[in-house]
Amino acid sequence: MKLNELSIKQAVEGLKSKKFSSVDLLKACLGQIKAKDKSLNAFITVTEKEALGQAKRSDNLISQKADLPLLGIPISLKDLYLTKGIKTTAASNVLKDYIPQYDATVVSKLKNAGAVLIGKVNCDAWAHGSSGENSDFGPTKNPWNEEYVPGGSSSGSAVSVAANMCIAATGTDTGGSIRHPASFCNVVGLKPTYGRVSRYGIVAMASSLDSIGHFTKTVEDSAIFLNVTAGKDQMDSTTPDTKVDNYLEDLNRGVKDLRIGIPKEYFMEGLDPRIKERIEKAIKLYEKNGAKIVDISLPHSKYAIACYYIIQPSEVSSNLARYDGIRYGNTRPHFGDEAKRRIMLGTFTLSAGYYDAYYKKAMKVRTLIMQDFDKAFAKVDVILTPVSPTLPWKIEEKVNDPLGMYLSDIFTVTANLAGIPGLAIPAGFINGLPIGFQILGPRFSEKTLFRVGNFFERNYKSGL
Ligand code: GLN
Repeated sequence: MKLNELSIKQAVEGLKSKKFSSVDLLKACLGQIKAKDKSLNAFITVTEKEALGQAKRSDNLISQKADLPLLGIPISLKDLYLTKGIKTTAASNVLKDYIPQYDATVVSKLKNAGAVLIGKVNCDAWAHGSSGENSDFGPTKNPWNEEYVPGGSSSGSAVSVAANMCIAATGTDTGGSIRHPASFCNVVGLKPTYGRVSRYGIVAMASSLDSIGHFTKTVEDSAIFLNVTAGKDQMDSTTPDTKVDNYLEDLNRGVKDLRIGIPKEYFMEGLDPRIKERIEKAIKLYEKNGAKIVDISLPHSKYAIACYYIIQPSEVSSNLARYDGIRYGNTRPHFGDEAKRRIMLGTFTLSAGYYDAYYKKAMKVRTLIMQDFDKAFAKVDVILTPVSPTLPWKIEEKVNDPLGMYLSDIFTVTANLAGIPGLAIPAGFINGLPIGFQILGPRFSEKTLFRVGNFFERNYKSGL
């Protein structure tokens, strides 16, 4: 195995036992970026010089026997994460020359845990999108077949991990932007509970929905990562005091007697039958190993897309108002079509006369969607659903069909509306393209999600 192909767990072990150095590991990743990124276009900025400094420092710390969870591990950051002194663009021409004055809380936490920050990765501008094509820096390509989209909006994050250009990556998920590209690229993606990870210093999309998560090669790595990033932050009042679990604790507990809910609304018309069949096999695997499969209903899910596409643009229109060309970056004509579309939609739904009919109504529906989940979690421990109703599509296939693009989020937006966590797990390939499923749980149940995901990962490798 090449060094850049290692998981966090394997790389940390190799570094500690001096099989290789952090500089070796970083060079393997940089070599892969040089070989692959011209065509994949995952990176907006490669911070080679800074990363080399951090890797050398890591090697020093390792020789002093320092024990940090990510010591010497190359990680990429979605270009929405503010990095002091390093350009942060949100993949938009509005911020194409913007250099932040401070680090996002997660960036500081990653640095303190010893991570080596290898670069800033591409995404749909302002995280608006499901394919990675809305970037002002050009589309990112799917590493499994470059004619296809990698999923979005955290396209570069998923691709940088899937193509072994780094060991793990950060992302943001407002309506599916971590889970969706994770499943299109065959990597593990976690959207934590709303507020579990600080949003401070991350370019806001829709503040009541934004979740700060990550991409890894294994479920165990995802748990290692969340152990570093989770917790209260003085700078983000939506992070609660709720105890942070040790997310590695239950990883190998198995699934005996665990109740897994299967919501009928997520397995109906519109779901590609090949994906359905594959996920049914995964459900069988759980059942065979002692899990209890329970049919459930989430009746208001059918309103989720409509509800999300009112609340989200409303918040977007407010958040993007600060980019007025005076305080940050370039003037408003630099916004792309998708941002303009959302600013207009959101301004409309928030305006006097329409507020009650649209925004307020959508907020009421949001409460019903939350209550659906609360009722379901009284009966089951977790819920299993597809991530995307379709396989990855061809680049440009949906660029002129924004509504069609919005519909690809049909299974992911509910978790953001309800504030619950979701873990996307790879479930193999169909026609050479990856597919995945997601495990949803009650708020702050990430430990259980890792347990369920880890079980599948370990047992799936031996074949369904
Ligand atoms: N695809 C969704 C959208 O365009 C979700 C985006 C996200 O999660 N950042 O709004």
